[in-house]
Amino acid sequence: MRRWAASVLLLASPTRPLDVGRRDFLTTISVATQTRQTWTPTALPHLSLDQAATLDRLDFARYPDPILRLEAKPVRRCDAALAKTVALLRAAARRHGAQGLAATQCGVDAAIVLLGDEAFVNPTIVARSAEARLRCWTERCLALPPDVRVETLRDEAVTVAATTAAGVPFTTTLTGAAARQFSHEYDHARGVLIIDHAYDTVASTAFPAMARLEEPLHAARRRKAWDRA
Ligand SMILES: [Zn+2]
Repeated sequence: MRRWAASVLLLASPTRPLDVGRRDFLTTISVATQTRQTWTPTALPHLSLDQAATLDRLDFARYPDPILRLEAKPVRRCDAALAKTVALLRAAARRHGAQGLAATQCGVDAAIVLLGDEAFVNPTIVARSAEARLRCWTERCLALPPDVRVETLRDEAVTVAATTAAGVPFTTTLTGAAARQFSHEYDHARGVLIIDHAYDTVASTAFPAMARLEEPLHAARRRKAWDRA
């Protein structure tokens, strides 16, 4: 008891500046305390485009919502339902401060990726930079507890073919941070999360069940995440 009190005094003392290790320790405690109170998983409904288009707003799925593992169906018609859903996705992204988004993250079973305001409908990666140019990033994801960070290897450049929400085909080449962000959202559209990119199973202080939930399927999910075919 006396030792515990002494530690508190040491950490709180204004005459003993915190070293980097202690600062990290305090940050970890603070993040864990906040996130344990606020991280609440969702179980969003599985929505078709037509169903999504009848709604006023779309919510974000939060791990381990099963909808996050959905492999999105291709969009068959560029109609009013698609236009309305893309507008709802843009509004959801703005509300959550997301720079990018896949429709599956809102429970919508449709191959749609947003990057900023730009919609990629039925996107496919038609070319990638060479494997020797893979870049390492540290990524987070709004669908995952906030203490989860994963080192990923992403293509330096990807060429993407897609259509606009109006059905107009286009091809674009994204590089650097834009390529990374698109790849993150493209992963969501095929049910892949950043935790699948990790060599080992990822753990979360904010959601302690994560490691146990992921471990049995991690090797298979990692193969899918690393596949660059
Ligand atoms: Zn994400």
